[in-house]
Amino acid sequence: MGSWDFVCGLCAAPFSSRSVEPNDDSKIDFSLLPKASVQWLNRVLAIAENEDAIGIERCYISGLGRDVDYGHIEVAAGDHPSAPAASSHEQMDLATYHDYSTDSVGAIPLHPECFDILKKVLGRAGYEVNVDTLYASLIDKHEKSSSCLNFNYYDFDGLTDQYFWLSPGQEAFMCNPINIAHLNDYLRNLPTSDSTDTPPVSSSELITDHHDPFSCLPPELITAIMLYIPRDAFIPFVLASPAVRCIQLTNSFFIARIATDMPWAWEILDSRRPRTDVDWRAVYMHLHKEAGPGRTNAIPGLANRRRIWDVCGQVAAIYARRTAEERQSTSQFELPDAVKARATCVYVPHVLSPVPKGAASVTVWLPVTSASIASTKIVKLFWNAEGVLSSIVFEFDDVNVAFGNIGTRADDCIIGPGDWIDGFELSIMSDIDGLTVKGVTVRRLLAEPLSFGDMSGHRRLAVVQEGCTLVGLRGEIANGVVSRLGLLGLPELLGPPRGPAPDLSVCKLLWHERVPDPGMSCSPSEFGYWSSDATPDTILMHALYFGRTEDELAGLTGIAVTQNLLGIAVYHNGRVSHYAGRFPDGPMKYFPIDGKAGERVVAFANDVGPLVSGFKIMTNRSGQAVFADSAEGQYIVTPTPADDFILAGMYCSYAYKSAGDDRLSSISALRVLGSGETADFTRFERDDASWEPVLPPSSWSCSEPTYGSIKPGRLSTYLDFSKPVTEIAGLLAAPDWLDIAELGGFTIRYADGSEVVVGVTSSIWSRLDADKPLQELPRRKHMATSFGRHPPELPAHVHDDDAVRAQNGRGGVWRLGSDGEKVTKLVVWDNQGRLDGLQFQSVTGQSSIRWGKCGSTATGEIVASERVKGVRFCLGCHRDSYYTLEPMPLGVQALVAI
Ligand SMILES: [Zn+2]
Repeated sequence: MGSWDFVCGLCAAPFSSRSVEPNDDSKIDFSLLPKASVQWLNRVLAIAENEDAIGIERCYISGLGRDVDYGHIEVAAGDHPSAPAASSHEQMDLATYHDYSTDSVGAIPLHPECFDILKKVLGRAGYEVNVDTLYASLIDKHEKSSSCLNFNYYDFDGLTDQYFWLSPGQEAFMCNPINIAHLNDYLRNLPTSDSTDTPPVSSSELITDHHDPFSCLPPELITAIMLYIPRDAFIPFVLASPAVRCIQLTNSFFIARIATDMPWAWEILDSRRPRTDVDWRAVYMHLHKEAGPGRTNAIPGLANRRRIWDVCGQVAAIYARRTAEERQSTSQFELPDAVKARATCVYVPHVLSPVPKGAASVTVWLPVTSASIASTKIVKLFWNAEGVLSSIVFEFDDVNVAFGNIGTRADDCIIGPGDWIDGFELSIMSDIDGLTVKGVTVRRLLAEPLSFGDMSGHRRLAVVQEGCTLVGLRGEIANGVVSRLGLLGLPELLGPPRGPAPDLSVCKLLWHERVPDPGMSCSPSEFGYWSSDATPDTILMHALYFGRTEDELAGLTGIAVTQNLLGIAVYHNGRVSHYAGRFPDGPMKYFPIDGKAGERVVAFANDVGPLVSGFKIMTNRSGQAVFADSAEGQYIVTPTPADDFILAGMYCSYAYKSAGDDRLSSISALRVLGSGETADFTRFERDDASWEPVLPPSSWSCSEPTYGSIKPGRLSTYLDFSKPVTEIAGLLAAPDWLDIAELGGFTIRYADGSEVVVGVTSSIWSRLDADKPLQELPRRKHMATSFGRHPPELPAHVHDDDAVRAQNGRGGVWRLGSDGEKVTKLVVWDNQGRLDGLQFQSVTGQSSIRWGKCGSTATGEIVASERVKGVRFCLGCHRDSYYTLEPMPLGVQALVAI
C-alpha cells in the first residue's frame, strides 16, 4: 500500500486487488470475492490533459497501466491523438487527481471496465466521447486534495479516509461489473413460459376495491400508465395497488420496462427480437432482485454494474450540460471541419484564480478569410460591473461571434481593412480574492496595439504561433467572466504576418509588470515538493535581467541575494535595476560582476528540495557565486555548441508562504539567441572543495593546521594574507543562550574593493530595540533543529544584553582604515571538531572583535608566514543538530605555498 490510496472516479473502488485479500481480523465475507472477480481492479487507464498538446483538443485517454505509490499511476501513452508523445514501449508516470509537482489537477484514473460502462451510457444518450468535455465533466466533481470524485456512489462508501477499507456487506461492489459469469449462465437458461403476448385479462371482481384509486380505471389505461412509472417506483407501485397486481402484464410490457429500467443488462437486450418463449416478468423480477443492494451475494458484479451505470448517469448529465454550452458557443459560426482539423491551440491558461468550479467550456470560430480581413472588423471587449473582462465579441460584416457573456460596459477596437490581430496581452490584477483580467491590449498586426481597461496588472501574452492566423478562441467562462483563454491558430497566413513575440515558454507564464521581450525564452523551471495554492499558470514570475542587449549586459554590476533567498536583486551601474522578493534592511550577499569589462554570466544552476534550496551562477571571468545551499547544481543551464544562446537573466517565483515570508519557489534562466560560451562548474572544484567567488592561486594548497569541520566537496572561500583588508563585517557574538548557527557568517572586504562572503550575516541584529530584552528578539527564521537536542557549546565571551548590544548592535564591524591592513593571524576556538569562535589579528597587532563564543581559552591559530598564504573557510548548512538554508563557517584550514 502506498502513501495514500486513490480510487476510480466512476466506481470508487481502488486499483489493486490486494485491498481485498483475505485477512483474519475482518468481517468481510471473502467467499464473495473470488480471485477471478476482483482481478479487474488491477488495471487502470487515465483521462488527462496534455499540457503540450497543440491540436484544439487537449485531453486524452491513456493506454492501460497500474497504480504505483504516492497517488501515481504508470500507464501506456495509448494511441489517442492528443496523448503525449511517447514510444509505445514507454510507460508514462501520471499523478492522479492532484499533481503536487505542478500543483494542478492531475489525471482522473478509471478502471477500463468502468470506462466501458460510461461509454455505453453516453452512447445511449446519443454522444460519442469527446475527451475534453469528459475530462471537464469529471473534474467538475473534484475537490482539491481529494483522491476521488464527488459523485454519489450509492450503496458504496468508497474512499472515506487516506486509505481504502472495504466495509462488510459491500463485497459485491468490488466484483467485475462487465464479465459476470453467473449472468452468462442465467442468460443461457432464461425462464420460459407458455404465455405469449396475450391481451390483459380484466378482473372485474377486484376493481371494486374502493381504497385503491386504480380500481376504477380500465386495465389498458393502467398498463399504459405503468410504462411511465419511474424505475424506483415501479415495484412499490405494483405491490401497493391490488388492482395493479391483478392485471396480467404482457411479455412486451416487461421487455419495454427492462429496456427502460435495466439498460445495464445490455446482454439481455442485445438481440433485436426478444425471445417470445421467455417469461420476461420473471426475468425482470429476478434482475431487479439480483442487482439490488440488498442481495449483493446473488450475482456478483451485477449489483456493481447497476451502481456504476447510475454513477455514469450523473457524469452524463454534466456531460450533456457542458456539450450544450459548447455547442451554443461554437454554433455562432462554423468553419469547415477540414479547416478546424488543422487549427492549433498551444495553451489555454487560467486567467482567474482561484480556479472556479464548474466553468463552462467555450470554443468560438471566427469567419476569418482573406476577404473578411480585407474589410473593417470590430473587436469589442465587455467588462462586468467590477471591471473584469466578461467577453470578447468579434463583429464581422455579416456575423458577430461572442466569447463569453455580454457585460455592462464595452470598449470597441477597430481593426481596419487589411489588418487583423494575433492575440492579446492581458493585464491580470491580483487582490485578496485572487486574480482577474481587468485590462486588455489588442495586438493589431499593422496598426499600433490598443489598450483598454486597467493595464497596471500582471501580464500574460496570448498570441498565435509564428506563421499562423487567429481563427478562434478557446477557454472557459465562470461566474460571468473569462476564466481561461487560449487562441486557435490556423497554420497559414490569411492576413499580415505576426509581429515578433517571445517564445512559447514565455507566453505560458504570468509575468510581474511586463512580459519579457520578443526573442526571449525560458529554461524549464523546477518546483519543489512543497506545493503552493496557485495553479502553475497563475504563479507570478519575476524577470531579473542581466541584459537584453549588449549595452544592458555591459551595464551589469552585480547580483545580491538576502539571507534565505528571501530577495534577489540585479544591479546595473551600481543601482538595483530588477528585483524579486523582499529586501529587509540588513546584510545580503553581493556578487560583483564587471559588465563593462566584458564579464558575462555564462552558466546558471540550481538545486531543488521542498523549495529552491539554492542556486549558483558562473561568469566568463572565472567567478562563481553560490546563493544559499547549491551544492550539487541539479539543473544546469549553459550554452552548448548544439544549443547556442546567451544567458539574459533569471526568472523566479515567490509562491510559497512560510513563517510569514514568501519563499522562493522556483528559479531558472532566461535566454536569448546568440553565441554563448559553454561553462563548467567543476572548474571551481579543487582540493576537495567547491570554491567561490574565485579559485585560490594554483600554487596554493590546503594544509594543516585544520580546525572545526572540513569535509570533502564543501563550499569554500578564502582569506588572502597578502591583501590589505579594510573591514570585516558581521563578527557577531553569541550570548550563552543563543546557538552560533543563528549568527550566520561574515564578510571580508579588501582595500582593492573586492570582498569575500564567509556566509551571510543574520539580519536579526540589524533591528535591535534598545528597550527590549534580547531574548525576546525574533529568532532566526527558516532554521530547523533535530528534536530535543541541544549541543554543548563553549562559554560565551559576552554575557549581558549591554555587552551583546555593544558588539552586535553596530553589525559587528571591525574596521582597519581606508587603506586597510593585512591580516596576519586567525585565532580559533575549536570545540572537539566544531568551530565555536574566531578572532582576526592585523599586521600592526590590532585584534578584531570576536565571532561566536570565545569565553574560554583559544585552542589554535593560523599565522601568516613564507609558507602560510591564507585561510580556507569551509562552509555548510548543518551544524550539529541545526540546519540552516544559508551556509555558515564550519571549519578553517591553512592555505600554503606548494
Ligand atoms: Zn472503477
